[in-house]
Amino acid sequence: MQTDDAPDLPLVAHWIGGVETPGTDPRTAPVYDPARGTESARVALAGPAEVEAAVAAASAAFPGWRDTSLAQRQAVLFRFRELLHERKDELATIITAEHGKVLADALGEIQRGLEVVELATGFPHLVKGAFSENVSTGVDVYSLKQPLGVVAVISPFNFPAMVPLWFFPVAIAAGNAVVLKPSEKDPSAAMWMARLWQEAGLPDGVFSVLHGDQEAVDGLLTHPDVASLSFVGSTPVAQHVYETGARHGKRVQALGGAKNHMLVLPDADLDLVADSAVNAGYGSAGERCMAISVVLAVEPVADELIERLTERIGRLRVGDGRRDPDMGPLVTREHRDRVASYIDIAATDGADVVVDGREVTPDGDPGGFWLGPTLLDRVPTSSRAYTEEIFGPVLSVVRVASYEDGVELINSGTFGNGTAIFTRDGGAARRFQHEIQVGMIGINVPIPVPVAYYSFGGWKSSLFGDAKAYGVRAFDFFTREKAVTARWPDPATHGGIDLGFPRHD
Ligand code: NAD
Repeated sequence: MQTDDAPDLPLVAHWIGGVETPGTDPRTAPVYDPARGTESARVALAGPAEVEAAVAAASAAFPGWRDTSLAQRQAVLFRFRELLHERKDELATIITAEHGKVLADALGEIQRGLEVVELATGFPHLVKGAFSENVSTGVDVYSLKQPLGVVAVISPFNFPAMVPLWFFPVAIAAGNAVVLKPSEKDPSAAMWMARLWQEAGLPDGVFSVLHGDQEAVDGLLTHPDVASLSFVGSTPVAQHVYETGARHGKRVQALGGAKNHMLVLPDADLDLVADSAVNAGYGSAGERCMAISVVLAVEPVADELIERLTERIGRLRVGDGRRDPDMGPLVTREHRDRVASYIDIAATDGADVVVDGREVTPDGDPGGFWLGPTLLDRVPTSSRAYTEEIFGPVLSVVRVASYEDGVELINSGTFGNGTAIFTRDGGAARRFQHEIQVGMIGINVPIPVPVAYYSFGGWKSSLFGDAKAYGVRAFDFFTREKAVTARWPDPATHGGIDLGFPRHD
């Protein structure tokens, strides 16, 4: 579709009721090719009419999908899984073009999303109720797990396929109708997945894509026919979504930001540490909620570690993700500039800038949103470069005197998403997993994103609500339980009138 704002550029339209529609709201936003620094499309931004249309289409599709047999729903999920697996290269190309991450990394996020689709294909086992026979004489009690209705998923820019895939396979398997509001920065992956659902045989309206910004999100948060919200994004927005959604009577899970620390004990294998810190710090240009952004080096290892990190950073190739480099650009110019500003903040606060990513020579268009890997040493813990989420390729080293000092720093932070310890000492690792106030922990593993049959979610301001993403418990989030107490009495034995509270005799 075309847009009036920029007639030469394609318009990424909404997907409502199984068809593309530009809607009636005239607002659009730019979509960039970050490696070229040019606008590649405009994306429609929903207003109240588009929110209403998407929710209405989902509400209309819901009863039919809820009443579709488990076997038929399962067949659709299997087809979706097969199509996604066969055509993942197409999706990876779309992700790289709008997000900027390198193709191999885009394929990696699809693979992690596929895991959740595979988990969801086994849903009949996970939405079973319980049955207790004869709880009282001739009385049985059993439970039913039923879908919620229309559920909304609101996702961030950094994983345009994987994060929506954390939620919608489970929601759809459980019989709900989904309205996905993807990030307006890279909206095309969601459209591709919507078409794939249609090809897999999902009835129109069960999966809709509503593009937009705060206005679309606020419309979903307050809409009376939206039963639940699954949000992933920055902490202030997660908190807003959680509080507003809960005030409007919705079930909400809202995953927020992160500042993940890697604690390196003096006995650790420093080559493993350096490789892991580089991979986890600069992969996807640091735009991962499970990126390592702080290395806590327990002395005396810091000098040697800095040397090994610097040598590895020198070998990293930064460039257009389509040319097979190690690291791509950042998502927008504005975000690149914001991330780069933390280098000055850290330097002003007394940190050593060991490698300055602003000096990078990329293999790509000079207009791209480039920032090379940056290494900061001796970052003061009072600096905003330490306390705030940077969300870019900036790795900070903080030197600490002991294991205890490291743990205290991690536990005093406001975020609690992921963390890692590197050591050869099993006792220290065991103590760490017990003491640390963080939701996901790696032991000699730098990005401990749990597999699909465990759940993903942090503590503190990294998760609002008590429901994590995916895993077996996700089926509880996307269903409502009913308990049924039943008897089929023999007319000769029913008890007659008794106004007392029922007992279990
Ligand atoms: P963001 O908070 O800017 O946007 C997330 C979503 O919220 C988008 O769909 C956006 O359109 C919408 N949004 C933005 N501002 C809004 C507002 N004021 N009101 C209502 N909706 C609004 O986040 P982002 O920049 O797209 O993504 C990066 C952030 O996401 C980082 O903080 C990162 O740590 C976090 N993240 C967390 C996890 C996790 O699992 N905890 C995973 C991925 C990303």
